Amino acid sequence: MTVTVVNPATEETIATLASAGVEETDAAVARARAAFPAWRAVSPADRGRLLRRLATLVEEHHEELARIESTNVGKPIAGARAEVAMVADVFHFYAGAVDKRHGETIPVAGGVDMTFREPLGVVGLIVPWNFPLNISSWKLGPALACGNTVVLKPAELTPLSALRLAELALDAGLPEGVVNVVVGKGSVVGQRLVEHPDVAKIGFTGSTEVGRNVMQGAAGTIKRVTLELGGKSANVIFADADLERAAAAAPYAVFDNAGQDCCARSRILVEKSAYDRFAELLVEATRNVKVGDPADDSTEMGPLVSAGHRETVASFVDADTRTLFTGDTPDGNGYWYPCTLVEARNDDRVAREEVFGPVAALIPFDDDADAIRIANDTPYGLSGSIWTRDGARALRVARALDTGVLSINSNSSVRVSTPFGGFKQSGFGRELGLHALDGYSEVKNVFYSTEG
Ligand code: NDP
Repeated sequence: MTVTVVNPATEETIATLASAGVEETDAAVARARAAFPAWRAVSPADRGRLLRRLATLVEEHHEELARIESTNVGKPIAGARAEVAMVADVFHFYAGAVDKRHGETIPVAGGVDMTFREPLGVVGLIVPWNFPLNISSWKLGPALACGNTVVLKPAELTPLSALRLAELALDAGLPEGVVNVVVGKGSVVGQRLVEHPDVAKIGFTGSTEVGRNVMQGAAGTIKRVTLELGGKSANVIFADADLERAAAAAPYAVFDNAGQDCCARSRILVEKSAYDRFAELLVEATRNVKVGDPADDSTEMGPLVSAGHRETVASFVDADTRTLFTGDTPDGNGYWYPCTLVEARNDDRVAREEVFGPVAALIPFDDDADAIRIANDTPYGLSGSIWTRDGARALRVARALDTGVLSINSNSSVRVSTPFGGFKQSGFGRELGLHALDGYSEVKNVFYSTEG
């Protein structure tokens, strides 16, 4: 069995790899298990040093890693460079965090009570194809910092950057067996990791549907899980906002990474009194999104990841759709799909389901209460934005939205040092920042009697 890796912009095969099965997965878990006692015993300062060396190697291989990611995912090279820079920052951050996680002493009668944060053991990390290296680092950083060993399963479509990162981890001096990458099908390798009795935790990013399976599969061994799942985030534009700025930014909050972004603000909610003006500005801004060759420094949007995924995205736009704007795409090979703006109601399929492509739905609202009602009327709760010049309103609405990551007068969701994760069916647990360390360690309470 082999995995054929394709460049989505050219449809050319760029690698053919052996596809792992249950046996290879078990072997990787066994390697990780064997490496665990020595890795957890590495002194915090030394573990930090090794992670910092890995961060530095990522920086030194910045262009190489960015090109691998751009060619494998079809993402514009400028975006891929920014992602690799973040990967290095993530390892720097967790290198610094290793020796700053302290236990507590708790006042009790008859002795001293103290807590320790223990590593879990072998953790399985399952990541999707949209940000392969970035999302791998969000899990690897805290997992390794806490003293766990890992088996990382990249998506079959995009395994190349994870394989290269594992080589860099060895070059950095991380011992053999600490970072293991297994390339193979989710239904085989992923499923085995979820059910394996020697895997203590699964850090999963992917669709809500597969996340549900992961949770069910993990129940058999009461495995810990962190789930970062889908989203259908709202970009809420009030009439008192800086409409020009909001409209100029809105396309990139959906069309970045060709819309294949769990944080995509794919529902653009606009206050009725500003709707026509905003729609006009948004169409103009979307017309300017530069779609084309991912290798070109100025390209802003590349193709979708696969032919199958393009079919799924296209199914959201049909003869009944009220289309406001459709952009251009390059001719020839590649899984291209144009930037598309549609007008919708919140109960239309395009506003309810995650498209995971460059399709944004404009939805009008009446007032604050209506905006909050519509924004929350979704099974998801990952991200979102609020645009207004009224600071009190911004905070009032932010507190009322059932979503894990919000920005005000901005569309950014992700920072190395701040927690990232969802409410409702967007999952649970937090990645990034110091919060992520909670998901990769267990609290141990020890009482020491001072009597007798
Ligand atoms: P999938 O859920 O299909 O796949 C995610 C990962 O799970 C892949 O590595 C896949 O392997 C693996 N997998 C598939 N089936 C199983 C299984 N039965 N058991 C264990 N693992 C399995 O998602 P996509 O790759 O299609 O990614 C897109 C989805 O990810 C979107 O819904 C998006 O919202 C979400 N996402 C969420 C993010 C977040 O942080 N909240 C960030 C990025 C994406 P393989 O593909 O090799 O079969």
